[in-house]
Amino acid sequence: MGYILALDQGTTSSRSILYNTSGEKVAVAQQEFTQYFPRPGWVEHDPVEIWTSQLATARDVLKHAGVQAQNVAAIGITNQRETIVLWDRKTGTPVAPAIVWQDRRTADFCQQLKAEGFEQHVRATTGLVCDPYFSGTKLHWLLEHVDGARQRAQAGELLAGTIDSWLLYNLTGGRVHATDYSNASRTMLYDIQTLQWDANMLERLAIPGSMLPRVFDSSGHFGDTDTALLGAAIPVMGIAGDQQAALFGQLCFTPGQAKNTYGTGCFMLMQTGQSPVFTDSGLLTTLAWGRDGQVVYALEGSVFIAGAAIQWLRDGLGIIGSAPESGEIAASLQDNGDVYLVPAFAGLGTPHWDPTARGVLIGLTRGTHRAHLVRAALEAIAFQSREALDEMQRMSGITLSELRVDGGAVANDFLMQFQADLLGVPVMRPDDLESTARGAAYLAGLAASVWDEQTLHALRATAQAFAPAMEEAARNRLFRRWQQAVERAKGWA
Ligand code: ADP
Repeated sequence: MGYILALDQGTTSSRSILYNTSGEKVAVAQQEFTQYFPRPGWVEHDPVEIWTSQLATARDVLKHAGVQAQNVAAIGITNQRETIVLWDRKTGTPVAPAIVWQDRRTADFCQQLKAEGFEQHVRATTGLVCDPYFSGTKLHWLLEHVDGARQRAQAGELLAGTIDSWLLYNLTGGRVHATDYSNASRTMLYDIQTLQWDANMLERLAIPGSMLPRVFDSSGHFGDTDTALLGAAIPVMGIAGDQQAALFGQLCFTPGQAKNTYGTGCFMLMQTGQSPVFTDSGLLTTLAWGRDGQVVYALEGSVFIAGAAIQWLRDGLGIIGSAPESGEIAASLQDNGDVYLVPAFAGLGTPHWDPTARGVLIGLTRGTHRAHLVRAALEAIAFQSREALDEMQRMSGITLSELRVDGGAVANDFLMQFQADLLGVPVMRPDDLESTARGAAYLAGLAASVWDEQTLHALRATAQAFAPAMEEAARNRLFRRWQQAVERAKGWA
């Protein structure tokens, strides 16, 4: 029983990673799948393609590693969050395309809910904001628009669930319809304190509670895979949404520990312990995971444009050849020359939440050149992350002692050092950046008693620390200048 299989079902690809009991990656397989954009603002996936691509990668890793299914102790699932699937309870056939988290089709409906005064209720029960991002209004849309869906749902003929539920249902041959706390907390239908589906939301959205999955601890026995699928019945022992799985994979087991994922945007989660911290500052309050009958909460902040600003330098402006060279170019300057880029290309997220903000480049002189722009773009990633982390610390009353990082852009040493300088705490970059899949594996491995918490800490031993090296006065001056630049970006559109 020497292996744990992580299924990492992402927005653009399905991946499977096989770990041995030393936590080493033995094999990885990946398949991209089709993105559908049927109308402006709509994003859909084919649930069958999601399932078949995920299953194919699971079979691939076992084959490549030469590992028999009976030697896999447990499966852990992590998934793109909020995306919703609606399917036939008897046949398991989806009755519509999955509506993806990025889909904005329910924006008007969310406005209507706000006008009815639901915003306060949503915040206080689900910890979220009333936004099309979350699953609830997407499911409402499906029940309204798919022929006969409302009646069939009321007759108990349909099931709904996030991607983890959909995979679990298929993995177990249609026997289990369940999810975990982290995924449930992203639906805008779940009361994160009573740990029940919220009757008020279900009633307003006309969603029969009987079509929703049962909610369990993220680490525990969800069911066994159908023997025909992988060659043996493997227990599914872990489930968590991608960002929460990354928090777990970074071993943020103590309140106040936080991770930041630097990809296209930045996703920050701070573990806040066994009671939720509610804010009205645009931070989301969410369930991090449940274990041993105890749930743990987190605060979540988001920066929309992070690595995407580097892509823009490369593809939009054509002033760099590749993302990795940005670090060297930025480091060729002594300082930023008082040049700031606020990449509010899609508005501003935490803590400003200004959809009308637009990008600003400020501080230009005749001496400004390409390197200033590149440096300003990298610094902007760190400035925005600091703003969100400051907000989390203010709201939770917890002071960060280090920041754990992952995602594609953390390969950039300049960015990591600048982030540490700007925060005044060490930035810890693990050798293995795949915290998400690792988190799913850890949740499963703990439940299967392959590991305990202590072994996990030992497995994580290697991480590179970037220690802060900037004077506080210098740090504060830079941050103040950034804040001035941000003010100039607001309210433009
Ligand atoms: P996602 O999961 O959002 O697609 P990834 O974690 O794969 O993102 O990271 C890719 C992002 O990181 C891209 O936006 C890219 O511009 C940025 N990136 C990758 N390498 C570097 C680097 N060395 N320096 C700065 N940014 C980088």
